[in-house]
Amino acid sequence: MNWFRRFMMGRYGVDQLSFAMLLLSMVLVMFTRGRLWFLAVLGFVLLGLAYYRMLSRNISARARENGLFLQYGQGLQNKWRGWLARMNDRTHRYYRCPGCRQRLRVPKGRGTIAITCPRCHQEFIKKT
Ligand SMILES: [Zn+2]
Repeated sequence: MNWFRRFMMGRYGVDQLSFAMLLLSMVLVMFTRGRLWFLAVLGFVLLGLAYYRMLSRNISARARENGLFLQYGQGLQNKWRGWLARMNDRTHRYYRCPGCRQRLRVPKGRGTIAITCPRCHQEFIKKT
């Protein structure tokens, strides 16, 4: 393994982004059949990119990409958690204000009511 260590010296190596790319490319290549062949091609491109990143000597650029990826992943995770929490909420309904897109929480089971947005004060009618 000595030659490998020497080969990897000064190169970026594996990070979370490359790992995710490798996983996704494997899934794409293995499970893509027939008319979706272009997804397999995409998988190979992704595989190539993952290796390119691992062997790259531009470490700061690669670290920056990985940082963005982690940030994005965190955002997705928060969205998913929020969605789950709203799905499990049996006592409230969630609406978005038609005026400012603010998310509003209203108690369930009050029939048709007029809701006033606390942010932009627009009124709208919803069933609860
Ligand atoms: Zn509003």
